[in-house]
Amino acid sequence: MDNNAKITEAGSGADSIMPEEPDCVHLSEQYRCNLLLVKKCIGAECRFCQSSYERGRSYKKWQDVMNTMPDDKQLAISAAYYNGQMPWKDSAVDLQ
Ligand code: SF4
Repeated sequence: MDNNAKITEAGSGADSIMPEEPDCVHLSEQYRCNLLLVKKCIGAECRFCQSSYERGRSYKKWQDVMNTMPDDKQLAISAAYYNGQMPWKDSAVDLQ
């Protein structure tokens, strides 16, 4: 058997073999992807795989970029895309 595959507890045979579960925030409990239009998770080789740590880092980077913009530009983006809110001002990000 492939070292990167596992057999689900519920079944046996070829249909129940799936790639090893990636550490991805987009993975549902049913091994489906909440991000891409695929029937089931592609696995660890997926280029869109994102751990919660990576997601937190990415969010923090986005906040840093937004906070360094001039105030008038922040206000314009807030009005156009965030219904007047400025979520980049929220510092409650869990980077684990
Ligand atoms: S690894 Fe890729 S296919 Fe799997 S849940 Fe994450 S983004 Fe979706």
